[in-house]
Amino acid sequence: MFELLNSLALDSIESSIDFRKQLAQERWKEGFNCPRCGCTKGYALQTRDIVECAGCKRQTSSTSGTAFHGIRRLVEFGKALKDFCLGNHISAAQYARNAGIDPGTAWTHLQKIRSVFASAPLETACVDVPCTIFKPALIKQSKEDELYCATSPKTCAQEIIAVTILNSSTESKAKLPASMIHSALSFLLSVFRGVSRKYSQLYLAEFNWIVEDRTISFRDAVAMCLRGHPIIRNDITDFSSPFLLRIVDTEFAGCRAPPTLKFGDSD
Ligand SMILES: [Zn+2]
Repeated sequence: MFELLNSLALDSIESSIDFRKQLAQERWKEGFNCPRCGCTKGYALQTRDIVECAGCKRQTSSTSGTAFHGIRRLVEFGKALKDFCLGNHISAAQYARNAGIDPGTAWTHLQKIRSVFASAPLETACVDVPCTIFKPALIKQSKEDELYCATSPKTCAQEIIAVTILNSSTESKAKLPASMIHSALSFLLSVFRGVSRKYSQLYLAEFNWIVEDRTISFRDAVAMCLRGHPIIRNDITDFSSPFLLRIVDTEFAGCRAPPTLKFGDSD
């Protein structure tokens, strides 16, 4: 149905139309499958990223029902995803400046990307540590509060309770991977200048990905997003990290030591 456009490598995202075509090609490379009726016969419409089902006539775009669903600044999102694959981990503020988009959109894009990557199972043993350990880096509540309190007052109230628990709890006596904690703290502080407790697990999912030294091609990352489900803004704003945060345990026998993290300028 879609001709194989090998020249349209996923490394050149110049326009939304081009990128949508590439997504269509990637999504239906094994053939079309109607998400409503399962029919495998469809007709590509003129825009070439929409397929009309031959059975039920439902029109499906290359992004509908995937993690790309509803993203307006798709080109910028694609570039941010590519940056993640290249190991360029940056703050929302820096990404907003680079891409010329507003900080709120940039923040949502990066949280969506973290959510997709957080759904990939960890390859290394991990430990659950109380968020109190990361207290020195949990300093950005006020800034992120502005982003989610306006739309989600209920979640905000839950977060206040969680922060109260955080402040009143005692330090865990459990044996903790000290070098990992140190490395995670420096990640949260040097890249983001601290994060909110509410979203800390998403940032640590990004950290885990770096520490595991995992590489993924942009094409595979795109495929992962295409297999994923839509992430709406409320999915992000309703997210609240558990009290115990999961990080990889490189002190576990046979694991690598935490890498020396190198980052560009923070905000
Ligand atoms: Zn159908």
